[in-house]
Amino acid sequence: MKEALAQELLRELQHIVDRPIRIMVVCGTHNRAIMRYDLRRKLPENLDLVAGPGCSVCVMPAGHIDAFVRIAMQPDVITVTCDDLLQVPGTRDSLASVQKKGARVEVISSPQEALDIAINNPDQIIVYPAVGFEATAPGIAETILDAACQGIDNFCVIPSIRLLPPTLDTLLADPDWDIDGLLCSDHINSLSDTEAYTSLARKYNLSCCIAGFELEDILRGLVNMVKQIKKGVSQLENLSSVIYSSEEYSMAKRMVAEVFFAVDTIWRGLGIIEESGFVIRDELSLYDATKRFNIRLSDEQSQCQCFCGMIMSGRGLPPDCPDFGKGCTRKHPIGPCMLSSDGICASYFKYTLEDGTTARW
Ligand code: SF4
Repeated sequence: MKEALAQELLRELQHIVDRPIRIMVVCGTHNRAIMRYDLRRKLPENLDLVAGPGCSVCVMPAGHIDAFVRIAMQPDVITVTCDDLLQVPGTRDSLASVQKKGARVEVISSPQEALDIAINNPDQIIVYPAVGFEATAPGIAETILDAACQGIDNFCVIPSIRLLPPTLDTLLADPDWDIDGLLCSDHINSLSDTEAYTSLARKYNLSCCIAGFELEDILRGLVNMVKQIKKGVSQLENLSSVIYSSEEYSMAKRMVAEVFFAVDTIWRGLGIIEESGFVIRDELSLYDATKRFNIRLSDEQSQCQCFCGMIMSGRGLPPDCPDFGKGCTRKHPIGPCMLSSDGICASYFKYTLEDGTTARW
């Protein structure tokens, strides 16, 4: 049934794409799904999908990893983090390499889990490097407010959350960029940043669409965007099945505003972007690991000759990198786009070179 729907949507795309159209697939999870379904080869020739900066591990600069590492090596600290971040290199070390040297680093799947570890280990300081995009901010804000409310003082966060809309705004301002639309993921639904995407659509005459991660969701999103583009409509369409109530939106917004404010922030491969990252307000500085340990998140970038910045800004795809599949593989990654499971190079490598296990449909 789903396969028949996907075939039907693909036929519709073949029918309606009658000129070159270039769409940025903002989110790393969408990019992975597109590779998994081998979609690029099945789409109309004139429909070009480029990758975007939506892999939070990929955009983490070396200077921020250095701060994570320095804090992880402090006495009585347990660093709790997502699996993907472990191997990302700073200028010298990664969390995985200092773990081998004796630092206590554990993998968890949510900030709430970090708080539970803090409750169960009152003699240790639990440090959570927060590395997601704006959609992760409400959950982290809620955990910090929860810790403050319960008087838990052995839990803190390294604030390295990034905001996609200002970064997309910076990329879109380049007249050579030539993008007709942004395919956005369900993730942006979780914070009321839909307004930011609506403004981007209007400002740059783009079609934008929020869609889920299943094949038919992505195809439905692409059909919707192509129709918008052909009609000259510039707006954000939300095709997501994940719907939040206005109360949930307001509560998320309120918690985020209570805990964070936006500052200029550096992105790996893309440079410093105005108001593109969150830091923790002074009133909650007990929960800010950088203040607690007096360690700055530096702007230092990696010296490796990696094309990640070019690929994450839609100016190329992994096969355009001379190291792809040669010097840079899943076993021996050079850049974070190959390290992270949501990295575009990792997705390309897995589904075109490594095992070729694309989904049948
Ligand atoms: S293939 Fe490797 S070196 Fe090339 S852009 Fe991707 S991660 Fe960087």
